[in-house]
Amino acid sequence: KLFSELQDLKGNIRVYCRIRPFLPGQTEKLSTIENISENGQLVIANPSKPGKDGQRSFKFNKVFGPDATQGEVFADIQPFVKSVVDGYNVCIFAYGQTGSGKTYTMTGPTGATEEEWGVNYLALNHLFKVSQDRKSNMVYEVAVQMVEIYNEQVRDLLSSDGSPKRVGITTISQPNGLAVPEACMHPVISTSDVLDLMDIGFKNRAVSATALNARSSRSHSIVTVHVRGKNVKTGTVLYGNLHLIDLAGSERVDRSEVTGHRLREAQHINKSLSSLGDVIFALAKKSPHVPYRNSKLTQVLQSALGGQAKTIMLVQLNPDATSFSESMSTLKFAERVS
Ligand code: ADP
Ligand code: MG
Repeated sequence: KLFSELQDLKGNIRVYCRIRPFLPGQTEKLSTIENISENGQLVIANPSKPGKDGQRSFKFNKVFGPDATQGEVFADIQPFVKSVVDGYNVCIFAYGQTGSGKTYTMTGPTGATEEEWGVNYLALNHLFKVSQDRKSNMVYEVAVQMVEIYNEQVRDLLSSDGSPKRVGITTISQPNGLAVPEACMHPVISTSDVLDLMDIGFKNRAVSATALNARSSRSHSIVTVHVRGKNVKTGTVLYGNLHLIDLAGSERVDRSEVTGHRLREAQHINKSLSSLGDVIFALAKKSPHVPYRNSKLTQVLQSALGGQAKTIMLVQLNPDATSFSESMSTLKFAERVS
């Protein structure tokens, strides 16, 4: 039944847009958001071009306005998460400029209460529930990996010695997910195990962040949940994977203003985000050639994108008028992949 439900969904890619609220203490509250419709239409307005001429409309599977709660957003993600125990691969990406709410959506605010938990926690919670509740003959094992990609290098955020270690990518197709076999795989049996691991992972990410000045917004972080299900009657084994990806900030940097390592960072981010766009675009068009090899991000996720895989792109927007041109480029990226 679930399979046919998923078959009913249009294609394998869903694109949702989420607009974060204005932040407390922010005085200028000039918004670019003209209108949000129930059917997934978003109208955005250029603040320096009043009237219809400055307006542009985009269509998504759904648009979440500034008042949407974490739970409301997750409700539209939950069916995909559930399909992982049936052997599907699911990728959930948060895309947008720095400050648009990617980390809020995926993780939650710092020191989040349970109500503020982001997709990562809600998804894992849900997976545990589904894998434990089933009255079927299935027995499940769940394990987690967490890596970051920074300057086209992959690092294990959960390495056993505690410091982020560089790991290689295998070219051998992985039946069970991430193509980084050297990154530590941590078995988990409860939500609190997962919370502990995520804490460690995000601390490791933060450590490198202070060293390199807010690096976390310039790296991609990938939490991968591996689910192995075994039918105790028939012995059949199935694998499903959930990849939760907080992408690097998509903002373009002015080439005239940055040099050296800052410029290199920006070029790496550009390259990986555009490769991701190219891969999803090729998959959506059912193109015979999918250009996975162009970035580490798409290489690592190769077996998780395509085939029976399901992808959710969460496109994040900052409603502020000063973010208009970044919002437009975010929306154009989204338009191409949807
Ligand atoms: P990003 O990860 O894209 O750089 P953040 O998730 O850090 O952005 O969000 C930037 C700021 O906005 C943070 O202070 C965050 O708590 C706040 N924020 C983002 N989305 C929301 C939301 N939906 N509701 C309330 N605050 C939000
Ligand atoms: Mg962030």
